[in-house]
Parts: sequence; structure tokens; C-alpha cells
Amino acid sequence: MRNYNSPGFLIFSCLVLAGSWIGVSMNASAAEHTDEQRVFRGLYKELVEINTTLSSGSCTKAANAMAARLRASGVPDNDIHIIVPPDWPDQGNLIATLRSSIADTDTVMLLAHIDVVEANREDWERDPFTLIEENGYFYGRGTADDKSMAAIFVDLMVRLSRSGYQPERNMKLALTCGEETPNTFNGASYLLKNHRELMDASFALNEGGGGRMNNDGTKVYNGVQAGEKTYQDYQLEVTNPGGHSSRPRPDNAIYRLSKALDRISSYTFPVEFNDTTRAYFRQLSGIVSGQIGDDMLAILDTPPDQDSLSRLLESPSYNSILHTTCITTMLSAGHAPNALPQKASANVNCRIFPGHTQEEIRQVLEQVVSDAEVVVTLKDPPESTSPPPPLSREIMEPIERVTEQMWPGVPVLPSMIAGGTDGRFLTPAGIPTYGVSGIFYAPGESNAHGLNEKVSVKSLYEGREFLDRLVRIYIGGE
Ligand SMILES: [Zn+2]
Repeated sequence: MRNYNSPGFLIFSCLVLAGSWIGVSMNASAAEHTDEQRVFRGLYKELVEINTTLSSGSCTKAANAMAARLRASGVPDNDIHIIVPPDWPDQGNLIATLRSSIADTDTVMLLAHIDVVEANREDWERDPFTLIEENGYFYGRGTADDKSMAAIFVDLMVRLSRSGYQPERNMKLALTCGEETPNTFNGASYLLKNHRELMDASFALNEGGGGRMNNDGTKVYNGVQAGEKTYQDYQLEVTNPGGHSSRPRPDNAIYRLSKALDRISSYTFPVEFNDTTRAYFRQLSGIVSGQIGDDMLAILDTPPDQDSLSRLLESPSYNSILHTTCITTMLSAGHAPNALPQKASANVNCRIFPGHTQEEIRQVLEQVVSDAEVVVTLKDPPESTSPPPPLSREIMEPIERVTEQMWPGVPVLPSMIAGGTDGRFLTPAGIPTYGVSGIFYAPGESNAHGLNEKVSVKSLYEGREFLDRLVRIYIGGE
């Protein structure tokens, strides 16, 4: 959502303001840190302060710390599994289940990753591995991505277990490592490959969604992520016999590759929609009215209005969810300044719209390049892909109901993301995975992956309350 200053949006802000005032008053007491919140804060602090970076941290240590809390709350030992891959001693994962007494019932999974991206102390204003509460924010690496949801899920299982809660469906917690390091080790895909039975569930809640608020705290929408594009790198390579640069020839590996990349740069993949992106644009058109809102409706016509489409394609955010995109990200060529290049290669990173295979896109790139001398290959073996998880009423109705309870008038907005979560491993494996948290962020506020990562204290506690109510609806029981 880019255009916050559009008139339609300002009118809407007032509406939202009215709605969220009720929310604010309801949460005022929460800001005074209830006992439960203080316990939660202690758990969150413990998790944030365990360094779980690939370079110098240990997910295994964090997994064991959370397991100790679950064990102490009464979750039986044989329902707590710490999975440490033989070759990756510090990349431990935790799977724990709050079991229903109903035989043959199914399972709802709460998925969160406990690893975090790197953080150098000298670059940060505060120690990235100390939880610091300041000016209404929690600061620290992973406070937003993704120890917020990991802590909320562990805290919920501890409280339900301690209270003797009897769910109708099993509630499974999966804390995985390696979400941030898919090219080295990824816990979710490792567990699916090696411990599929432990990962079984009817559906999963995960990161990737979340509320959007504008800078003065008024809530705009509560986002639910359903589906993501597929990440795939392609290599384009040209080889040439080379020779002495004092006797140049017309056939040059670098020139040939540049022409190929130029053809790719001017190629646009066809625009397409799926249920998630249709719902996204339809609903967003009601939030961001004005020209941009009208455009969002007009592109849903058959055929889509071309003028509206070209306006929306100018926005990198909307462009990224309207079709497959490919962009050149890295180049390497030549071996000596005084020699004709024998090899030139480029990395082209594609984000593939669901429903297309990586091989299909490779063939499209080959056709666009249309030069047999330019070899187009997949950089890494293709991950399994699938259509987005369905926006079923079973999933969406409880989200809408709790959103209306907590933030009257704030719409629920389904979205497909261009980036990636571990949902890209679970959904194709038959576990439809939805990004939903109820944690609201202003644009760029969390600075996830960046310096001085943070989450607002109010948003985190509201998210905790939201997920508590939501999960209880999904698992049933009392
Ligand atoms: Zn994350």
C-alpha cells in the first residue's frame, strides 16, 4: 500500500480512527502489563536473548529452552521432540503437541522460525541480542522476525497446558531453524523430508501476514498471507574461444550476454490472477479509494482495463504480485584485462507466479534470449511448488470474527507475497499454510533483517491476544 496521501485514504483513516478508538480503549489496560503479559515478556526476552544466527548462534539452545518451559507446564515428554540434524548440531528444531483426547482428530500447526539473520553489535545502536524496551518498542534481532510469533505460540501452549485445556483438535507447535538460510540449511524442509509424520497437520499458521497501520497508529487492514511466488535463480552463460585483446573479433562473450540480458530486461510476463490476488485487489480497492482504488477494480474486469493495469504495474509492490518477474542480479565475466573473455555469466532471479514450473520459466527465458550460444540453466534444483492455499471459510471466518471483535471496522485483506516463507515447503507438502499474526506494523517500522529491528509493545501484546482467540477457535474445546 503506497499512496497514503490519497483523499480516499484520508477519509477512510477517519473511519478507521473511529473504529480503532474502541480498540485503543480496550487495549489501554493491556498496556499496563498484566501478570500473564509479564510472564510472556520473560519468555520473549529469553528467546530474543539467545543468539540464533547461523554464524555464531544456536537454535538448538533456543529449542531446548522453550522445551523446558513446555515440559514445566505439563506437556508430556513424548509429545516434545527436539530434532537436531546430524550435520547441523546448532540447527535444532522443536515439535511439541498439545494432544486432544478425541481419537482420530486432526491437527492445527503453529509454525514459527527461531533462527534470525546476522546482526553485528557495532552496527546497532543497542545490543541486538538483549531485549530492550524503549519508547513503546521492543528492540533486538528477531523481535519482529520471527521471535514475536515463536514466543506467542510457546506462551499459548504453556498457558493452555497449565490450565488443563482440552482441545478438540491437536495443537502442534513447530519451531524451526534455517528459515533465513535456505541455501545452507532449512529446518522446515529437513523435517518434511526426514520426519514427515511429526510435521503432519491439516493446516498451519505462520509468519508472512500481519496488520498494516499508518504512522499515527490507525489500523488500515489485517493481512492474511495465502500463497507466495516461487523463488528460482537461473544462470545464463556464454563461452567463447577467447584470444588476445589486441586482435578483437565481433563475437564477444560479454557483448553476446549483454544483448541477451537486454532482451530479458524488456520482456514482461503476462499478467495473471488467482483467488488470493483477486480478493486482495477487490478488497484493497475499498480501502485505497480514488484513482488507484478504481484501477484495482478495473483490472479485475475481463479483459482487464489496460490503462489501469499499466498504472498499477508502475508500482513495484503491485507489479510484483501481478505476474512472474525476472531480474538480473549478478554478473561475472572475463579472466584477464588483456584477453578476450572466454566466459560471461549472469544470475537472473525470478519470482514465479503460482501455477508455473521452474522449467517452464526457463524455456520462456530461452525463447526471449533466442540465442543458442546463451545457455540458460536452473541455478539450484527446483523446489516443489503448489497453488496458493484456499481462502476457505473455515480459515477466513474466524480471522474476520476476531478482527472485528478487537478492531471493529478494520478489514481482513488476503495477500500473496513475492518473498518467501517456510510456507513454500509446507503448502506443496499438503499442509496449507497461512500467514496471520494480528501484529500491526506501520510501513517499514519493524526493519526486519535491518538495523535496530523492533516491534511496538502494544502491537505485540495485541497480536498475542488476537492469536490466542483465533487458535482457540481453530482447535475448539475448552
Ligand atoms: Zn522470518
